[in-house]
Amino acid sequence: MPAVPVAADAPVRVRFCPSPTGNPHVGMVRTCLFNWAYARRTGGTFIFRIEDTDSARDSEESYSQLLASLRWLGFDWDEGPEVGGPHEPYRQSERMGIYADVAARLEAAGFAYRCFCTPEELEERREAARAAGKTPGYDGHCRELSDADAAAYRAEGRQAALRFRMPGHDFTWDDVVRGELQFAAEHVPDYVLVRANGEPLYTLVNPVDDALMGVTHVLRGEDLLSSTPRQIALHNALADVGVGQGTMPFFGHLPYVMGEGNRKLSKRDPESSLQMYRDEGYLPEGLANYLALLGWSFGEDREFFSKEEMATVFDVARVNPNPARFDLAKCTAINGDWIRQLEPVDLASRLVPYLQTAGVLSETVSPEQMDLLHQAVPLVQERMEVLTQGVSMLGFLFVGDRFRVNADDAAAVLTDESAPVLAAAHEALRATQIWDTAAIEAALRDALIAGLGLKPKVAFTAVRVAVTGRRVSPPLFESLELLGREVSLHRLATARAERR
Ligand code: GLU
Ligand code: ZN
Repeated sequence: MPAVPVAADAPVRVRFCPSPTGNPHVGMVRTCLFNWAYARRTGGTFIFRIEDTDSARDSEESYSQLLASLRWLGFDWDEGPEVGGPHEPYRQSERMGIYADVAARLEAAGFAYRCFCTPEELEERREAARAAGKTPGYDGHCRELSDADAAAYRAEGRQAALRFRMPGHDFTWDDVVRGELQFAAEHVPDYVLVRANGEPLYTLVNPVDDALMGVTHVLRGEDLLSSTPRQIALHNALADVGVGQGTMPFFGHLPYVMGEGNRKLSKRDPESSLQMYRDEGYLPEGLANYLALLGWSFGEDREFFSKEEMATVFDVARVNPNPARFDLAKCTAINGDWIRQLEPVDLASRLVPYLQTAGVLSETVSPEQMDLLHQAVPLVQERMEVLTQGVSMLGFLFVGDRFRVNADDAAAVLTDESAPVLAAAHEALRATQIWDTAAIEAALRDALIAGLGLKPKVAFTAVRVAVTGRRVSPPLFESLELLGREVSLHRLATARAERR
């Protein structure tokens, strides 16, 4: 079997092809981002394919989440669900006829054969191989079965899987990320393409669709490295039976993402869940920016950039093969940078859904509330790294009678010693006729710093907690101005009464 040439001069076609199982996670998004950026930089095509052939594990819910996540992150795709394309359908569950046909062709041409071994038999023989110090892979038991042997197995009621016949030589390829890689033949035994129950496996459907869809670059996580020699062998066979365009894709394996304690970030780690970032109020721009740094760098120490900027320069050949460490604190800091450079009006509208989820705003937001939010946003823009922090800092402005002082802050600050502070602040503000930042500040400084001889921190923290409900708030005097005279005095009076 001649080896087919790599797709060297063809226009780039890359694919992102997740399985819709469980919740979308950051590793997945990083793979998507690198593929997308490579397609955009080269003027190529970005294909989005859904690998939903495992009916036991895939779910519609997970599929919808996937699409929603990619849209939230601002990805667009040239071929795939919702947009269509020349190789429809892009959900593998809808391509079963194609796989059955290809499987039949591979079998007819002798590239695959029927294997009647039961799982128990396979395990037994693997065990024996291990005991004998041999590599425990498939031992080729059914490779040369005669028609009579096969008939005898069938008569026993056995069903056969379809197994790919590996060519028996070593494999070498020039990985776009990792350079030349080699796999010895003995480490890549014959493998199952179609289960005995007729279900085609990832091992078949993924390379088949890469071939049919003319994928030129397979860019994916390092965890799939060991499947590559099998896939190369299968691509050669597919070309032979006339499936696809007779070229070999380039392979590039993106580095592992490591979590705490130098182990691989797992789907179960909380910082791995995309939903966590949405819930906490990370901006899609900030998250994409951080994920780009997992294995790649813009150069010139530049760490703040949009994915569109990334896409003007991204070259997969410059991806660093070493494991990348996931650093949530850094991700959060970059998100803070993104928040700080938003237009305040934009930031305000991004805060609205979070204020609604928190129950601070109701579904319909009045023009007055929006106006107040626009005035308040510049006060917190510098102080927040995720949108939910903005919600906890600004909630006091919108909750009216539902206002409650946060219990922890009350316990720490509104002690008996704060009673005279609250009383003095209340009296001083009650006597203030003009209600603006300057007048409020003057009145409070006069009463608390000059009058009671307190340090500003002690004096103002008590007032802050009484009126905003928290120790972390927007600047105090501005907050009081925005909150208004009546409500501010009411809250001080309440806090004062509770301390008496
Ligand atoms: N569906 C596979 C996965 O999610 C795709 C692997 C590949 O890119 O080949 O792991
Ligand atoms: Zn067998």
